[in-house]
Amino acid sequence: MSQPYGRVFNLSAGPCTLPVPVLEEAKEQLLNYNGTGMSVMEMSHRSKPFEAIIHSAEEDLAKLLGIPGDYKILFLQGGATLQFSMAPMSYLCQGAQADYVVTGTWGKKAVEAARLEGPVNVVWDGKAGNYSDVPDLESLKYDARASYIHMTSNETIQGVEFHRDPSLKAPVICDMSSDILSRPVNVSKYALIYAGAQKNMGPAGATVVIIRKDMLDRVPREMHPMLDYRLQAENGSLYNTPPCWSIYICGLVYKHLLKCGGLAAAHSRNKAKAGVLYDAIDGSGGFYKGHAEKRARSIMNVTFTLPSDDLTSAFLKGAGAQSLDGLKGHRSVGGVRASIYNAFPEEGCHTLASYMAEFQRQNG
Ligand SMILES: *Cc1c(COP(=O)(O)O)cnc(C)c1O
Repeated sequence: MSQPYGRVFNLSAGPCTLPVPVLEEAKEQLLNYNGTGMSVMEMSHRSKPFEAIIHSAEEDLAKLLGIPGDYKILFLQGGATLQFSMAPMSYLCQGAQADYVVTGTWGKKAVEAARLEGPVNVVWDGKAGNYSDVPDLESLKYDARASYIHMTSNETIQGVEFHRDPSLKAPVICDMSSDILSRPVNVSKYALIYAGAQKNMGPAGATVVIIRKDMLDRVPREMHPMLDYRLQAENGSLYNTPPCWSIYICGLVYKHLLKCGGLAAAHSRNKAKAGVLYDAIDGSGGFYKGHAEKRARSIMNVTFTLPSDDLTSAFLKGAGAQSLDGLKGHRSVGGVRASIYNAFPEEGCHTLASYMAEFQRQNG
C-alpha cells in the first residue's frame, strides 16, 4: 500500500520521520496559528500564544514521562552534542571526577568532551566487542568520589540499548537522544536526562533537558549564561530566543503520543515493530547477522550485516524501489541500519522484512 502524500518509509537515523497527523496540523496552522494572524515561525517568543505553546509542551512531556515535581524541563539548543560539554562544565569542575559507561560511538564522544573539563573514569567500554552489548550497570565498580555517572540509554549507531532504568547511588546523567519517549521511564532514577529533539520528538533545533532541582543548585556560580542550567531554568528556557518552531512541533508530537495511549502503548508498538525485523534476521539462517547481542538489541535502531560488501550495496540499491529510504549503516558498523522511531509505521517494518526475504531468495 502506498503511503499518504507519496511519502517513503524513512528509516533514517535522524532527523527522522514524524507522525503524519502532526505534520498535517502544522500545515493547517502554518500561515495563521490559532487565529493569531501569523505562523509560529514569525511569532515573538515573549508573546502569550508562544508562552502557551511552551507551557503545554512542558506539561504534556511531564505527563507522558511521569516527571516528578522536583524536576525541571528545559528546551535548550546545541543538540545533545552540547550536553556532552555542558554537563561536565557544570559538574566536573572544581576537582570533581566522573564515571562514564561507554556502549557506543555517542558515549565515546561524551567522554572526549568531558575530558576537556576534568578527570573521567571509563568504568565500562564495549570496544572489545565492537560495541555489541551493554553491561549490567548495578554490578560495575564505580568511584565513590564520582560526582556523576554518565550513560547512553540507546546507542544509535550500534543499535544497542539498555532495557531498564539503572539503580545507582551517584547521580545518573543519561543521553536519551534516540530512545526518549519510546517506552515508559522511571525519571526518578536519573538526575539529568538530555535528548536532541530530532530522533523521537520533533524537528532538529531543540534539546530537551530534564533536570532534578538539586542539580540546578550545584551549577557553579561563574557559568557562561547560555551554558547555565540554573539560569535557563529561572528563565523558563526563554533566556534568549529559543528554537520556537522545534518546540511547537515537539508539543504537537507530545499531544499526539498522549492521544495514542502514552508511552506504554508506544512501547508495545515499538516492540512489535522491532520484533518484525529481528525475526527476519533470526529467521534468515545466518544470511543477515544482527550486530547487537540479543539482550542488548535496540527497539529503535536495528543493525545488521550481509555476507559481503557487494551484497550490502545491492541490498541498499534495491531497497529504494520499495520506498525504503535511509538504510545505509554507519561506516563504523557497516551493513544496514533500520531506524524505526516512534512515528515509523509498522507497515514499513513488514515491507522491509518482505524485501529482506525476497533479496535472500534471489541472492542467498
Ligand atoms: C544523534 C545523537 C546525538 C547527537 O545529537 P545532536 O543533537 O546532533 O547533537 C547524541 N547522542 C545520541 C545517542 C544520538 O543518537
